[in-house]
Amino acid sequence: MTVPTVALPTTASSAGDDAAEGILLRQRARESSARTYARSFPIVPARATGMTVEGADGRRYLDCLSGAGTLALGHNHPVVLEAVRRTLDSGAPLHVLDLATPEKDDFTDALFATLPSAFADRARIHFCGPAGTDAVEAALKLMQTATGRRGVAAFTGAYHGMTAGALGATGSVAAKERVAVGSAEVTRLPYPYSYRCPFGVGGERGAELAATYTQRLLDDPSGGVVRPAAMILEAVQGEGGAVPAPDSWLREMRRITSEREIPLIVDEVQTGVGRTGAFWAVGHSGIVPDAMVMSKAIGGSLPLAVIVYDEAYDGWQPGAHTGTFRGNTLAMATGAATLRYVAREGLAERAAVVGARMTARLEGLRAEVPMVGDVRGRGLMIGVEIVDPEAGEDSCGARPAAPDRAERVRAACLDRGLIVELGGRFGSTVRLLPPLVITDEQAEAVLDRLADALNEVAAGRRA
Ligand code: PMP
Repeated sequence: MTVPTVALPTTASSAGDDAAEGILLRQRARESSARTYARSFPIVPARATGMTVEGADGRRYLDCLSGAGTLALGHNHPVVLEAVRRTLDSGAPLHVLDLATPEKDDFTDALFATLPSAFADRARIHFCGPAGTDAVEAALKLMQTATGRRGVAAFTGAYHGMTAGALGATGSVAAKERVAVGSAEVTRLPYPYSYRCPFGVGGERGAELAATYTQRLLDDPSGGVVRPAAMILEAVQGEGGAVPAPDSWLREMRRITSEREIPLIVDEVQTGVGRTGAFWAVGHSGIVPDAMVMSKAIGGSLPLAVIVYDEAYDGWQPGAHTGTFRGNTLAMATGAATLRYVAREGLAERAAVVGARMTARLEGLRAEVPMVGDVRGRGLMIGVEIVDPEAGEDSCGARPAAPDRAERVRAACLDRGLIVELGGRFGSTVRLLPPLVITDEQAEAVLDRLADALNEVAAGRRA
């Protein structure tokens, strides 16, 4: 593997500065007020390679957002570029609906080779519209069709997407309160979030209580819950603030759903392709789900989304989940190349090692900077929860979230040439999602800049 050098923020050129400023002004004037990342990161990416993004003004940034966890190999990796060039040169049709192509056949081979064998042996794949949310819709419809039931069991803190069914399963109240969400009834269950434990106890005990509550609610004839068509969960919640569920809790969810014939859908849109230190996050607990939802990194930078599920559920009708953009030849080529590269280079294992090292150093920082309330994560999916250090602690030792401080930390990071996004409750968790190819040197640079930004905000030097 070639080792890219760490890029430091450079001074902007004034011509580039003017051009970038013009683009940003026009964006603000013409684009929707619902734009998101563009608000937090007023930069104009012009070039990118590996972990480094260069703005039109010449400034450089280390990118710990990675397209919201999409870029397993960072930006414009040689393996991805080679797949694009090869496919273009081959004359393959770039758009083919869901017709059979050599590229699709090869992508399916590459993907199935990465699956746990107990799952792969009985797997069917459905190519969906290109976003994660569309694959979530497909998984929910598949299980509703198979079981003849309607409802969905989903978790506090969950994020599954912005279309009706997926939004229904999502936890965020702000994203739902002003719009009509999906028609399926959603039973909201407690996710084991140790720092802000729904039962106020935290740790393994909190996770045990969460599992007990789920089991008893599903079994209670007066609990108000009609047996759902599926349970959907993330093994590590991403947008929810990099919250990993204990493996024991995941095994409990598998047991509870199996015993009650409730299909279990694991949403691996963000956790997949090595991100958590296993190729698929289900690999840590060893559970075999009934369906997996996949998108983001499986397309190797380009849009691609699929569901993979046990053939026993494959009873839906032709056209049951159709869509025009389900045959993106380039994405299948870049996706297959990425999946194979991650497997061949042992990048999941690498994510586990670097992630553990980064988390350990952040733990040290927590001891020094009181506004760092919690450090958590798995592999290269890391969360640093920012709290109000002057407020009192609750029964789990947690202090109230401090979204204003978290925003200041994000801005202070950007000033230092580091892109980090926020998530979690009240948007108070700084999330680190660097590419799996991050070097040791880059990991140190990320932590140096983050520590510096945290110290600036903690010292009140940033308004
Ligand atoms: N599920 C999970 C776990 C996600 O993290 C996301 C996106 N952040 C989605 C689904 C939705 O994917 P998309 O934004 O591509 O619709």
